[in-house]
Amino acid sequence: MRFDGKVAFVTGGNRGIGASICKRLASEGADIAFIDRAPDPQEEVIKAVNNFGKRAVFYEADVTDKAMIEEVVANVVKELGSLDILVNNAGITRDNLLIRMKEEDWRAVIDINLTGVFNVTQAVAKIMLKQRSGSIINIASVIGISGNAGQVNYAASKAGVIGVTKSLAKEFANRGVRVNAVAPGFIETAMTKALSEDVREKARQLIPLGFFGEPEDVAAAVSFLASEDARYITGQVLVVDGGMIR
Ligand code: NDP
Repeated sequence: MRFDGKVAFVTGGNRGIGASICKRLASEGADIAFIDRAPDPQEEVIKAVNNFGKRAVFYEADVTDKAMIEEVVANVVKELGSLDILVNNAGITRDNLLIRMKEEDWRAVIDINLTGVFNVTQAVAKIMLKQRSGSIINIASVIGISGNAGQVNYAASKAGVIGVTKSLAKEFANRGVRVNAVAPGFIETAMTKALSEDVREKARQLIPLGFFGEPEDVAAAVSFLASEDARYITGQVLVVDGGMIR
């Protein structure tokens, strides 16, 4: 129970990778606060957290709404007592070739995936810096490292997240706060189920291990980086992609 007495805050925790991260951190002792822009929490996430004997609180909040995020973070500290682990997981795709990409799709992806990380991290960091401890994990993507045709907005946002991770690691190190990123490859969630079977098959051929990862594979990497086992690791990007990019 390496997270006993700790509180984790997970954005986009209602489903997919975020839900899996909530469950994994709770299974190792953390109380969980999670937000989503959908108004209702997935009862399944709350039940799973409670089944580990841990508290779960849900807030409807959009990571692009800075004022709302600040209010939510203040409430989490009031309700759960502290904030020790932040997982910036909320993210979207709006894929298209550059020539056809609508400006609103460019802006939506940058706003949620990158500015959302700024908004939430600024609110949470104030608490972590004051308590002189904490671990921040940003969910990036291999696309932020390798780029991908048809994903300029997504690639730019995730490359930005990696830049934020490396910069904040340097900014926060002397206050005991570590900042790392996990860069998943293809993971079985709604995001990748939306791909055509043809695209999925082509993707599989690029993965040396030969299969898409599960949300739990990402959650395991997050758990490691959040833990004391990673106490000497900051500013790193842990790639979880079945060997796809080198
Ligand atoms: P999903 O689409 O399954 O889940 C994303 C979650 O984030 C949803 O619950 C969604 O809520 C929430 N969300 C979206 N926008 C906001 C917002 N503005 N404010 C608050 N919550 C929001 O995605 P995944 O689980 O697949 O992805 C999670 C993260 O992992 C993302 O950052 C993604 O980019 C990254 N990733 C995923 C990969 C994959 O293969 N699946 C690969 C590489 C990276 P709602 O239900 O309202 O939409």
